[in-house]
Amino acid sequence: MSAQVIDGRACARSLKEGLARDVARLAADGIGVGLATVVVGEEYASAAYERRLRRLADELGVVYRPRALPEGAGECELIDVITELNDDPRVSGILVLRPLPRHIDEASAFRAIDPRKDIEAVHPENAGLLALGVPRYVPSTAASVFHLLDGWLDSVGEDRADFYHRSRIVVVGRSNNVGKPAVSLGYQRQATVESVDEWADRTNGLGRHTRQADVLIVAAGKAGLIRAEHVRREAVVIDVGINPGRDAEGNVRMVGDVDHDSVAPRVRAITPVPGGVGPVTDVWLFHNAVLAARLLAGRPPLSGALSGPGSTEPLLEAS
Ligand code: NAD
Repeated sequence: MSAQVIDGRACARSLKEGLARDVARLAADGIGVGLATVVVGEEYASAAYERRLRRLADELGVVYRPRALPEGAGECELIDVITELNDDPRVSGILVLRPLPRHIDEASAFRAIDPRKDIEAVHPENAGLLALGVPRYVPSTAASVFHLLDGWLDSVGEDRADFYHRSRIVVVGRSNNVGKPAVSLGYQRQATVESVDEWADRTNGLGRHTRQADVLIVAAGKAGLIRAEHVRREAVVIDVGINPGRDAEGNVRMVGDVDHDSVAPRVRAITPVPGGVGPVTDVWLFHNAVLAARLLAGRPPLSGALSGPGSTEPLLEAS
């Protein structure tokens, strides 16, 4: 048996088509959608991410305003830029890229973002709403994980609620960025959720936890961390990791946290890297920017393909 491969690119394409229509409809009503990114210092991964966002913004008809500060910029300078973007009517969503240099306090910077424009839910108000199960915005990576899972369940004819209620979801990695929001979304679906971090791995306990998973979500940033012996047969595996790796010919290529070749033959379904969570995450950020534009314009939340029971659709009424 070999796993079904969950196609993130196809999912991203269909999300993009819907979003382009939403953006055009809002534009016809005089409501612009704008995304701003703020980078401090030079990070290879951030630069690549920005290029992808710029391309997507072009395709979707979204205004894109990238801001870059030098590595040595202080917290006040960063907060000044964020305040400027808060006040800019062309910007509906703001993304401050991680990692920030060590001399900047991440929490202080995130608190400076207008919560209505905080599309990655890093402001304590939005992080709190997510933890309470009533998110204003669902952070894009965790949203993509569950959007892919929900779509896969629909494709195999499984009832979403029934599946989640009887499933144990194990999330490897506990960052504020990915792991914790994924745990919150698992709770929101009334699944049994376990969070595993590097401390479990250091005491050789990783497999003891991961082998119990019906759904294994891996976001540790460690190439090949999860191998065949870490998964149970019939599990669904979502690989969030993005790591530099090499193919058999020695060429540099992107690899996930899951050793795809050894894991895929054992499990029911798996996301590839590249072509899994990543493309959906990119588009989801724009989905959140559209929600923000609607919120700022006093429009009701979106309904339709992205809403429904246990969905990743944010509840704008929480605002
Ligand atoms: P992070 O470094 O902030 O957090 C990693 C987490 O994994 C931490 O909680 C850490 O303690 C834990 N961890 C590290 N080693 C571990 C081990 N051996 N066993 C168990 N847990 C371990 O990273 P992040 O921002 O959460 O990102 C995680 C990965 O996901 C990275 O590879 C990143 O590039 C990738 N990522 C992908 C997307 C996407 O769209 N596909 C988006 C964001 C991040």
